[in-house]
Amino acid sequence: MESKSSEILIVGGSITGGVAARESAKKGFKTTLIEEHSYVGKQGKCTALVSTSGLKKIGLKYENAVMNEIYGAVIHSKHFNFSVVKKTPVAVVLDRQKLDEEAIAEAEAEGAKIKLRTKLEKINEANIQTNRQTIEFNWLVGADGFSSTTAKTAGFPEIKEKVLCYEAEFKGRNDEKMVHVYLDSEAYPGFFGWIVPAGSETKTGFGTTEIKKIRELQGKFLQRSEIKKFKNLKKQFHAFIPMQERERIQKNNILLIGDAAGQTKPTTGGGIVFGSLGAITAIEKLENYEKEWMKEKTLKKHLLVRKILDKMDNNFTDAAILSSNLGFNKILEKIGDMDFIFK
Ligand SMILES: Cc1cc2nc3c(=O)[nH]c(=O)nc-3n(C[C@H](O)[C@H](O)[C@H](O)COP(=O)(O)OP(=O)(O)OC[C@H]3O[C@@H](n4cnc5c(N)ncnc54)[C@H](O)[C@@H]3O)c2cc1C
Repeated sequence: MESKSSEILIVGGSITGGVAARESAKKGFKTTLIEEHSYVGKQGKCTALVSTSGLKKIGLKYENAVMNEIYGAVIHSKHFNFSVVKKTPVAVVLDRQKLDEEAIAEAEAEGAKIKLRTKLEKINEANIQTNRQTIEFNWLVGADGFSSTTAKTAGFPEIKEKVLCYEAEFKGRNDEKMVHVYLDSEAYPGFFGWIVPAGSETKTGFGTTEIKKIRELQGKFLQRSEIKKFKNLKKQFHAFIPMQERERIQKNNILLIGDAAGQTKPTTGGGIVFGSLGAITAIEKLENYEKEWMKEKTLKKHLLVRKILDKMDNNFTDAAILSSNLGFNKILEKIGDMDFIFK
């Protein structure tokens, strides 16, 4: 293939784009990453609870972004709860913006060029048009998130299954070492609620598949006793999480990674580790990326568990949480913080 001005051109300057750019530049490809904003990163629109084992796999220096260490989870059904706790930390809560900036800094240190305020608008056979210039490429990597312009412009199939999340973050120290997960099919249809202690703050939120009801559910969420005790609202936002992998993630020399590819766990919504593994696989395999990635069945198994959880009403969840004989606590223990439970 004739070498273009960018052998690998990455659209999106957040976590998965940063990891892809780092891997690509490390391999010696002429690498360019474009980001539509004047800054990189998701601006912290993420709880950023990540398993330490997963973080090791993606090889980022995450230590400076750690806000709190987590030892386990308290799983609440409507009337009962139980705890799963380990002796050592199983996950960390991160400052998501710092993590994204670290990924981009590592890419730059390897030689990737970062172009800010540069928005993908159109894809042609061997170049893209942006709001600023035309850039040639050999391989185009769409790391442009859930609403991926790369996927839309290149005609990839749509991701239909998604949850809309609301997150409210409150100022004030919270050094608790357990996260709280609320399984309640009336309050959070199609997903769950959470309280995540983040050291200098508390991240609370929920997701739902009932997108039109989000404001109503949000109003009720903020009135719940466990949420009302947090007083100083610092930030709130809404954002989508894909709940299924896109059926196609590659069309010849156009590859999708991260949320653009639907590389999130349908059980927990976690996408930092899997999206970054998607980035690493994409750069390593290039023409064989889709084939290689689709061999990985973990996300499909998470989807299966999600479908089972979706069928459970509150009575069933109460009964399951009460009954350790069902082995339900073992399932949740594993889903709660592990990225690799099915291997
Ligand atoms: C409420 C919430 C909580 C979450 N909690 C967790 C969690 O605890 N743990 C976890 O692992 N995951 C979590 N996730 C999921 C995680 O945030 C995503 O999976 C992750 O951000 C995906 O990264 P990405 O790089 O693929 O996309 P994004 O982070 O969405 O980044 C896409 C980038 O592309 C840029 N872009 C978009 N369009 C263009 C364009 N046309 N041209 C140029 N640039 C463009 C954007 O500006 C952005 O910088 C959560 C998500 C939500 C919504």
